[in-house]
Amino acid sequence: MIDQNIPLSQLAEQTAQQFQQRYGRAPKWIAAAPGRVNLIGEHTDYNDGFVFPMAIERYTVIAADRPSVTGRNDINWHCARTNQTASFPLTKPVPKAEPKHWTNYIRGVFAGFQNRGLDAGPLDVLMASTVPLGGGLSSSAALEVATATLIEIVSNQRLERVTKALLCQKAEHDYAGMPCGIMDQFISTLGEQDHLLLLDCRSRAPELVPMTDPGVEVLIVNTNVKHELVGGEYAQRRRQCEEAAKALGVPALRDATADALEGNKGKLDPVAYRRAKHVIGENERTEHAAHGVRASNWPTVGQLMYASHLSLKDDYEVSCAELDAVVEIAHDIGIDGGVYGCRMTGGGFGGCCVALVQTDATKAVAAQIADAYEKRTKIKPTLFVSRPAAGATVVKGGV
Ligand code: ADP
Ligand code: MG
Repeated sequence: MIDQNIPLSQLAEQTAQQFQQRYGRAPKWIAAAPGRVNLIGEHTDYNDGFVFPMAIERYTVIAADRPSVTGRNDINWHCARTNQTASFPLTKPVPKAEPKHWTNYIRGVFAGFQNRGLDAGPLDVLMASTVPLGGGLSSSAALEVATATLIEIVSNQRLERVTKALLCQKAEHDYAGMPCGIMDQFISTLGEQDHLLLLDCRSRAPELVPMTDPGVEVLIVNTNVKHELVGGEYAQRRRQCEEAAKALGVPALRDATADALEGNKGKLDPVAYRRAKHVIGENERTEHAAHGVRASNWPTVGQLMYASHLSLKDDYEVSCAELDAVVEIAHDIGIDGGVYGCRMTGGGFGGCCVALVQTDATKAVAAQIADAYEKRTKIKPTLFVSRPAAGATVVKGGV
């Protein structure tokens, strides 16, 4: 029932073997970066608020070497996962591929290093990944941060880690056309084993919060649905939040309190009010949850997760029937059955739920959720467990 994680060392070994098969020699460099799950703090990032993600034991691994022929000035990149190969020239700036092409994330990172005067030079590359693509676990940031880590070792020059994360975020903005916040690239770069990252999206101050209690595990349930929305929901939510902040007379919703919102309820239309209510409440819940994790107070963290889900469903309106089904099933299992809490994670409208589960009940809980979810939706979910993992790693060739 539980989809097993392949340890990074094993995945790197497999990637090196695939590189050898494809190019006839061993790779000189291997870099990796993880995907992530956000425990709580959803749709708070662009409101200057708090997020609380952890890196997961799912990685994008990139093996590379110089081309065996001289005179090339391009990047030749094979993706083992999708069996696609692409190449792009290292002209300045690196050209964009057509919109939504998978190499845009990579090209954007190469361009970011060029802007800093750092040229990686020509490469043969083979990439593998165990992060689900497009499932809300940030395969995009894993790809960007792994690419940046590769360029660092190839060029023998390290960036300061926050600079590196921001370079990757800019790649996603400029080359992939996705105006994302800082969470994904920060956690994929700065994550530490057995720690979550409480991130203040205004000051960008990262705070590592230990989560070492062996009695609790994070279960990730992929609904395996993704509802394509025509209405530009993300941009609309951002706009509604900005309008609400303006009406409340604050720079961002991060600065508003629940009391101020209630006091000014008349100034906001009902939709803007509910959007603001979610963001203000979610920021409070996120800081509160960080205290809960520090104290290993899992029932409290779990309750905050359920409250977050309800707020995302009713006030922010970014959930969907499949995500709600997982949370309801988890809630029915309850603490007695081993579940502390559960919520949708990521932008919404599909993707994954995250649940906090008692370690000795994980297998039974996963089986119950999978069965009940399939009965209700006729869709098979994918489930896996992760401990908080380390961020970007040099597997081979670093100095
Ligand atoms: P998420 O980050 O939640 O997985 P995104 O839509 O932001 O979803 O990014 C997914 C896209 O990133 C994929 O559609 C693909 O274009 C690209 N991508 C990420 N990782 C890989 C990979 N290992 N191989 C090929 N493409 C990838
Ligand atoms: Mg993404």
